[in-house]
Amino acid sequence: MANFNTHLTVAAVASGALATAFLGAQIVKPQDVVILSLVGTMGGMLPDIDSDKSIPVKLMFSTLAIIFGFMVMFVKAPHFSIIELWIIWIIGYALVRHVAFEVFKNLTVHRGIFHSIIAGLFFWFFTTALCYHIFDFTKFLSWTIGFFVFFGFIVHLCLDELYSVDLLNRRIKRSLGTALKTHDYSNLKTSGYMAGATLLIFIFTPSSDGFERVFFSSKTYINIWNNLLPHGIWFSG
Ligand SMILES: [Zn+2]
Repeated sequence: MANFNTHLTVAAVASGALATAFLGAQIVKPQDVVILSLVGTMGGMLPDIDSDKSIPVKLMFSTLAIIFGFMVMFVKAPHFSIIELWIIWIIGYALVRHVAFEVFKNLTVHRGIFHSIIAGLFFWFFTTALCYHIFDFTKFLSWTIGFFVFFGFIVHLCLDELYSVDLLNRRIKRSLGTALKTHDYSNLKTSGYMAGATLLIFIFTPSSDGFERVFFSSKTYINIWNNLLPHGIWFSG
């Protein structure tokens, strides 16, 4: 299994590279690149939230909690007094750091349902719904941010699988096939719950028309391809 640092580095590089490609193709604005790289990196950490003993996981929950608290606070800033904002921040933080963390700790088995594509989709739709309804992002940006969480998530699962194959010893570890899977084969009940939760959260996502138009258009990928290499002398601007 890949360790925390490997996951962090690979997820950050992969989502940074993808976000830059989107910027080059003028799909996203410069200010969005930072958010997209960040959420992609967080997506790359997410599958391991089921290993409740590790310090990185606790650290990640604390970080997520702080970010979540701040984001809720920023959105509500124009409407409330400072004291109210502090209270909102504390509630947002406590909800993620303590309530969500405890629920996870008690419900999850490491390398179980949270290492599956279904869980990745759940976090995609969850993020999209959150961005649209709570943080007031546009439909397109909400879908794109959710997609980056999913992207980072899949990068994590692929990395875990790669580490299951010991390249030097040509030995295959027992963990092969426990990371990149559509659902948890050993626990169909949990898989069913996750599928249900994914469908439920999908209902709360905004219309994806604009997002689909960009992502399923060959023009987008031609645009990325055309902007990949400089047209004249390198770095001449
Ligand atoms: Zn993992």
